[in-house]
Amino acid sequence: MSAIAIDGPAGAGKSTIAKLLAKQLGYVYVDTGAMYRAMAVYFSQNDINPDDENAINGAVDNIDISIEYKDGVQQVILNGENVTSLLRTEETGKMASKTSKYAAVRTKLVALQRGLAKKTDVIMDGRDTGPTVLPDAIAKIYLTASSDARAKRRYDELKEKGENCSFDAIKEDIEKRDYEDMHRAISPLKQADDAVLVDTSDMNIEQVVAALSKIIDEKKAGR
Ligand code: C5P
Repeated sequence: MSAIAIDGPAGAGKSTIAKLLAKQLGYVYVDTGAMYRAMAVYFSQNDINPDDENAINGAVDNIDISIEYKDGVQQVILNGENVTSLLRTEETGKMASKTSKYAAVRTKLVALQRGLAKKTDVIMDGRDTGPTVLPDAIAKIYLTASSDARAKRRYDELKEKGENCSFDAIKEDIEKRDYEDMHRAISPLKQADDAVLVDTSDMNIEQVVAALSKIIDEKKAGR
């Protein structure tokens, strides 16, 4: 099996690019953030305090998460229920960001992610896929962009949906999430030594896909 790992901070465009590349390459796209979000849904639904590690540890034993694909799109099943439509809210994102630091949460999800990569060719995105989940990935990419560029993309996306939002609040939230992801004790977000850095601040989607395709081709050719 061959695997491609894309890591980077929130809003760098990882999932958009990974989905397009997966189609192009015939690989399965695995969104690891969705798994942390599914755990977060359980914690929220069961009123578990994200600051109480003992409560989190106890809850993790009651959580079963599995992944299915419907028309090629990843579905996350939480204790038998498809929770995919609940994952992308701000509240769930915040809960995921607060609880992804715990060993019990990460151990369970990393095992699930490695199991998926054993079965099929995957392009996986997240925060620790290159350094921790898939150390043998054929290509590792660290996709990033300035916090201004990332906040602007998120702001435009929400405006297009007709949602009322403030650019400054979005930027502040992105920077807070970066800080939490980069400073946790276990698997903090950082560029793997063997990852290629791509800064997408001044690139459009087509340019990013082209840049990553080139990197992947070169890695596959052993260059
Ligand atoms: O990428 P996404 O915004 O969906 O991820 C939600 C949260 O899950 C992140 O803020 C991060 O804290 C956590 N996460 C992680 N490791 C991953 C993927 C996501 O810690 N591989």
